[in-house]
Amino acid sequence: MSNNEDIFKKVVSHAKEYGFVFPSSEIYDGLGAVYDYGQNGVELKNNLRTYWWKAMVQMHENIVGIDAAIFMHPKVWKASGHVDGFSDPMIDNKDSKKRYRADQLLEDKIARYEKDGKTNKANELQEAMDKALLDNDLPQLKSLIETHEIACPISGTRNWTDVRQFNLMFATEMGAAADESDKVYLRPETAQGIFVNFLNVQKTGRMKIPFGIAQTGKAFRNEIIARQFIMRMREFEQMEMQFFIRPGTQKQWYEYWKEARIKWHNKLGYGADKYRFHDHVKLAHYADAAVDIEFDFPFGFKEMEGIHSRTDFDLRNHQELSGKKLQYFDAELDENGKPYGNYIPYVIETSIGLDRLFLATLCACYKEEEVGEDDKKDTRVVLSLPSLLAPYKVAVFPLTKKDGLPEKARVIMDELKFDYNCFYEEKDAIGKRYRRQDALGTPYCITVDHDTLNDDTVTIRYRDTMKQERIPIAKIKEILREELDWKKLLA
Ligand code: ATP
Repeated sequence: MSNNEDIFKKVVSHAKEYGFVFPSSEIYDGLGAVYDYGQNGVELKNNLRTYWWKAMVQMHENIVGIDAAIFMHPKVWKASGHVDGFSDPMIDNKDSKKRYRADQLLEDKIARYEKDGKTNKANELQEAMDKALLDNDLPQLKSLIETHEIACPISGTRNWTDVRQFNLMFATEMGAAADESDKVYLRPETAQGIFVNFLNVQKTGRMKIPFGIAQTGKAFRNEIIARQFIMRMREFEQMEMQFFIRPGTQKQWYEYWKEARIKWHNKLGYGADKYRFHDHVKLAHYADAAVDIEFDFPFGFKEMEGIHSRTDFDLRNHQELSGKKLQYFDAELDENGKPYGNYIPYVIETSIGLDRLFLATLCACYKEEEVGEDDKKDTRVVLSLPSLLAPYKVAVFPLTKKDGLPEKARVIMDELKFDYNCFYEEKDAIGKRYRRQDALGTPYCITVDHDTLNDDTVTIRYRDTMKQERIPIAKIKEILREELDWKKLLA
């Protein structure tokens, strides 16, 4: 097993063991590519979402948020192109009856060529695959699978069906009488909830272009290849922002958001070398430019966020299909002194998967450290989360369960809990309790001992350095206020 595979396995089991992520419906053996966030996972996820929301909405006077419903009128998905175009090219192995994404099989082969030093073959196949995808040439995809002798990983045979397109949207029926007209979809992206509300928000918020609308929420895709834990799920959460601009200014704003978003990632401190931009060769049906921000996961660089220049594709199609004008009157004057007048705005989109950000965070922050000296050497597992993201900000421990120490610890905790998520524990040796908080990523532990009763001082222990300091109780809040300051991440 490679070191990276090993680390990934450890991260996955840590996530389960410490209440971050559980397989969905686990007592029934789980449900493919669906996961639940546990008691610590939900806190970390909320904090990541808050970081995004603050950076996008709170820090921008011209960006506001909404929370649209998951169900939308079925015509939305016709206009957006999802009914006709949101599909993956699939191929089945006739012996194992397993279904694969044709491009994924080819990608795996390319990776294998590269690993074996066959760079020319890898490049050649990459080029041929990109062209086939661009032309939507399904027979050519099958032919590539055959000529490169790709076998099913399960059956080992090359007995393949033709390549077919498979729509990724989940459909269900609304109301009692189920016929085609009652068919609704679970949204495959949150963006469309923003587009259909474009005028509602613009008018009621008196928004002036350029302005943005942000939204976070669940999205659903019937992913065929679901693997790598919460990397590719069938139910996941997106954090999307659509920025409405004057046509012709899209290049400038595309660059602006590329820079703003990479800066946002870098502020987390996981290391600049963990990110790279990947320009799209094959553009989606709605885009005139697109780039991914990829993160260096233990299984390689993979997409975490997309930045897309979506032109006026969505608003124009919604205008056409709904028959409602989705235009903006721009009263500002152009270089000839005339108002820009009515137009359908162009859009730059930033779209990040919260679950992938969560996974990136776990992978970047999971550390095993050698601690102690000589015969007392030990390994500690620590999640070096940015303090503001940690599920618990502070743990409060009475050294023992008696002599009034728990009562004193409770008084301290009762003072802190209004501002900070606190953890209280009185069981087990103090060292063990510290280690458990390290594994959850809690940045500060406060220990109350017998001296506390006499002089109102406590021990504060720092997660990353394991340094311990004696401080007056009155100083705890001061330290926390200084350390847990959103300005550090947002300025
Ligand atoms: P991929 O190529 O990995 O399937 P995508 O290009 O289809 O992703 P977008 O449609 O651009 O993804 O969605 C925006 C973001 O939503 C992605 O960058 C990713 O972080 C997240 N995302 C998309 N699909 C999933 C999924 N199945 N599970 C978890 N997150 C996802």
